[in-house]
Amino acid sequence: MHVVSTIKELQILLAQHRNNGKNIGFVPTMGALHHGHISLVTQAKNFCAVVVCSIFVNPTQFNNVDDLANYPKTLENDLSILNTVGCDIVFCPEANELYPTKCQLVFDFGHLEQIMEGAFRPGHFNGVGTIVAKFFNIIQPDHAFFGQKDLQQYAIIQLLVNDLSYQVQLHCCAIIREQDGLAMSSRNMRLNEYQRTLAPSIFQSLQTGEKLAQNNTILASIYNQMVDLYLDKNIKLEYYKFVNAEDLTEITTLVKGQKVAICVACYIDDIRLIDNIIFNA
Ligand code: AMP
Repeated sequence: MHVVSTIKELQILLAQHRNNGKNIGFVPTMGALHHGHISLVTQAKNFCAVVVCSIFVNPTQFNNVDDLANYPKTLENDLSILNTVGCDIVFCPEANELYPTKCQLVFDFGHLEQIMEGAFRPGHFNGVGTIVAKFFNIIQPDHAFFGQKDLQQYAIIQLLVNDLSYQVQLHCCAIIREQDGLAMSSRNMRLNEYQRTLAPSIFQSLQTGEKLAQNNTILASIYNQMVDLYLDKNIKLEYYKFVNAEDLTEITTLVKGQKVAICVACYIDDIRLIDNIIFNA
C-alpha cells in the first residue's frame, strides 16, 4: 500500500495504473475509520483494480470550530486497517496541499442545501462540494463510493456529477450499524459510557417512525411522538423529517409505493449524530 501526501505523488502512481489498463475506485473519508468505511473500501475492491482512499478532515465543511477541533484523528490505526483490507493507495494531504489559497468558488445546490443538514449547517455542503470536486479533478476515478449514512451528501454529489459532467460512477453503500442499531460514525468515539447508552434510541426512533407511517399514522403526529421520545431521553432533536428518498423533498402524507426516507439529526450533549432509514411506503 502506498501512502502519499502530495497531488504530484498521487498522480504519478495513478498514471502508472492507468497505463496498465487498471480502473480506479475512490473512497473519500475523514479518517477515524470504522466498519462503515471498511465496507466502502471492500465494495470498491469488488469493482476496481486499484482503490484510492483519502483521509482528510476537510476544514471547509465544518461550520462549527469546536466540531473541527474535536474531530477524532487516528492516522496510524487507519493506515493499518486500510493495509489489511487491501487498499492500494492512501492519500492523506495537509490542508495547504488542497487549499493553497482561500477558496473563493461558491456552489448553489438549490433546495438540497436549504433543508436538513443544509439548513442546520450553513456552508457545510459548499465545503463538501468543493472538496469532492477537487478530489474528482485530481484522481479522476472511474467509480466513487459513498455511504447512505450521509444521504443528503450523496444527493449533493450526484448533482455535482450531473451538472459538471464528471465521468465517474457513484455508488451509495448501505449503512453499517453496531449490534444495537447505532449507525457507525467516527463521532461515536466521543460518546462516554452513559451517552453511548442513549444513542441506540436514534435508530429505534427511525424504526418506530417507519412502522407508524406504514400503519397510516399521520406523519405530523409521528413527528410529535419523536419530539417527546427525544425529550425523555435527554437528547436534543434537531430535525426528524419524512422525505422523498429520490429528491429529498419533504413529505407530509405517504403515497403507496413511494420510496421514503426518514432523516434525523440530534445532539447527545455536544456530540451531533445523524441517521436515516429508507423504505417503500
Ligand atoms: P466520513 O469519514 O464520516 O466523512 O465518511 C466517509 C464516508 O463513509 C462517507 O461516504 C460516509 O457516508 C461513509 N460512512 C460513514 N459512516 C458509515 C456507516 N456507518 N455505514 C456506511 N458508510 C458510512
